[in-house]
Amino acid sequence: MRIDVFTIFPGLVDGFCRESLLGRAREAGRLDLRCHDLRDHTTDVHRTVDDSPFGGGAGMVLRPEPVFASVDAADPPRPLYLLGPGGRLFDQSTARRLASGDGFSLLAGRYEGVDHRVREHLVDGELSIGDYVLAGGEVAACVVIEAVSRLLPGVMGNERSAERESFGGGGAPSVAAARAPAEASPPGLLEEPQYTRPASFRGWEVPEPLRSGDHARVERWRRAQALHRTLTARPDLIAARGGLTAEEQGLLEEFDPVAYP
Ligand code: SAH
Repeated sequence: MRIDVFTIFPGLVDGFCRESLLGRAREAGRLDLRCHDLRDHTTDVHRTVDDSPFGGGAGMVLRPEPVFASVDAADPPRPLYLLGPGGRLFDQSTARRLASGDGFSLLAGRYEGVDHRVREHLVDGELSIGDYVLAGGEVAACVVIEAVSRLLPGVMGNERSAERESFGGGGAPSVAAARAPAEASPPGLLEEPQYTRPASFRGWEVPEPLRSGDHARVERWRRAQALHRTLTARPDLIAARGGLTAEEQGLLEEFDPVAYP
């Protein structure tokens, strides 16, 4: 997968994506990440990328020329998304959609924002990572890159972990479909709690079903906990999947919920 990022701080994105899982994916050739410095496409000695807004007002605006020139020079993979708080909310289904393609590109804004002609005539869409305002799009770019890359085949050590986790329903569709679909957790649930050794820590025991060795019971307990947690923390996700089946009601009654903060 190729991902191009346009920014005035290429080192921020490149540095973040050199570590850990992303760094290994790049070394293995699974992720071709290219960070482009918008300042490389300025024409004045000060390498100016911003200017004051027409009509007056506070702050500066990212000029269109270096943005268009950078994108023209790189010929990046499409779709190209501007990152901005007014964009469509980036979520796990968007991550899955992007992970199933060959590549995409991101444009990180700075200052008060970006000259609107970039939205009208250059990018294919706008993505927001949440209802808050950052100082620049670089952290948002890192969020998108990490969420998408970990769904790519071979990037995570254990591909099943992406299938069963919160907002489940799989990694890139090809990966999920190739693996026992019957085992995948129903889409839209939060993940169940996980424990590792020791079985007793400070007097707190790992729930008995997980230690029972009865695989069918473990599976029922896990689904019951995912349902309990989602019902309490994110009832909107239960509503979105059309409520609970009779079987799911039964699971909720069979097992008490574990505690959450
Ligand atoms: N004045 C703008 C905010 C500019 S913040 C407004 O009110 O909408 C500067 C840059 O940070 C933006 O151009 C964008 O690229 C990035 N940014 C800020 N918040 C973001 C968010 N929630 N998601 C994605 N990018 C964001």
